[in-house]
Amino acid sequence: MKLIPSTYVWMNGELVPWDRARIHVLTHGLHYGSSVFEGIRAYATATGTAVLALDAHVLRFFQSCKIIGLALPFAPDEIREAILETVRRNGHDNCYIRPIAFRGYGSLGVFADDSPVDVAIGTFPWQGHFGPDAREKGIEVGVSSWRRMAPDTLPAMAKVAGNYVNSQLVAAEARANGFHEGLVLDVAGYVSEGSGQNLFLVHGGRLHTPPVGASILAGVTRSLVLQMAADLSIPVVQMRIPREMLYICEEAFLSGTAAEILPIRSVDRKPVGSASRGPITTRLQERFFGILSGEHADTHRWLTAV
Ligand code: PMP
Repeated sequence: MKLIPSTYVWMNGELVPWDRARIHVLTHGLHYGSSVFEGIRAYATATGTAVLALDAHVLRFFQSCKIIGLALPFAPDEIREAILETVRRNGHDNCYIRPIAFRGYGSLGVFADDSPVDVAIGTFPWQGHFGPDAREKGIEVGVSSWRRMAPDTLPAMAKVAGNYVNSQLVAAEARANGFHEGLVLDVAGYVSEGSGQNLFLVHGGRLHTPPVGASILAGVTRSLVLQMAADLSIPVVQMRIPREMLYICEEAFLSGTAAEILPIRSVDRKPVGSASRGPITTRLQERFFGILSGEHADTHRWLTAV
């Protein structure tokens, strides 16, 4: 995800030139992972640039802040508007949007309730990691030797920077072992998610996904998949998934803002189903990309024009 500089970054209420969006090295968030962020995408649609699932992302941003006790000096509507303004002023079509709130400069104790809270929104052009080839053929994943954090250690439901050390370990191990991505088990040994994606699999014709209690991040794309499955009358089961179900399922895919809906063709070098994109994955992808392209009506109003 190479950063291509844009014109402006929104910082604490105003748009500042990209190169002036700076912070001090003694910023609390840099030392202790005390920052909350979002990953959002805007797409070039037939009717202009539109942000996908903006309200769901803004809601999760505020929920993550609430979980770690970060009091934002802005209201959700102000952040929502700032996101749209930043994308608009940077003149993007396809782009990535990164809102971040963090304990700022002023106090360096671990407990720093008195430190200021800074908020920024960066946007940059981005087309995604995976091209049409991966969308069709899928990727190879391996189960990590790392585990997701136990539920009483770190708040998996919050998109907090500190949690992402776990994701980095999982992703690095997967690459070192020759996989595109890693899957992580929860502390009880059940399947949790990918390093930065939620997991779905098809078993006995039904879509299965781990529940929120399996130390997952409750992905926005996951909720879109659940809605599309309901719309398409695809039965869904949210249940604890034993590792071996990954080896005998008919289909599997990852969901996420970056991954979109990405088929998995093998797990631990064992082929998933016929080792190519399966019919349920294909239907969900067609609906998802159909909504983005305008071929399918945006009945749930997932797109917000900038
Ligand atoms: N799990 C983790 C750990 C993630 O970082 C992400 C990416 N935000 C996801 C799942 C997928 O979430 P979303 O669909 O909201 O991007």
